[in-house]
Amino acid sequence: MDRTILEKCRDELQRQMDDLLAGAGRTVSDMTTVTEENFPDPTDRALLESNRNFTLRLRDRERKLLSKIKEAMKRIDDGTFGVCEGCGGEIGEKRLVARPVTALCIDCKTVAEEEEGR
Ligand SMILES: [Zn+2]
Repeated sequence: MDRTILEKCRDELQRQMDDLLAGAGRTVSDMTTVTEENFPDPTDRALLESNRNFTLRLRDRERKLLSKIKEAMKRIDDGTFGVCEGCGGEIGEKRLVARPVTALCIDCKTVAEEEEGR
């Protein structure tokens, strides 16, 4: 794997991680400032509940993404970055640069998505 591509991907992963961690901090403070006392009206409270569910879902997604980022960084360190976990083939450089957290080549990803959708 090209060294410059590797560095590019590592930078992108680091940036995504920083973004996530900054966003996670913001989410927590949002949740503490918005309390039910600010929403005495039941309609507003329902809105608050749905907002909170959205926030929790987002944080769950963020947690998953964060672990993917960490795994990708580990793969850069141990030299397996860019190798598809599904078929052992190479993941295209363009795909890696666009989405460095990916561990599957486009073919395996397509198959995985089809299986998920079933
Ligand atoms: Zn593959």
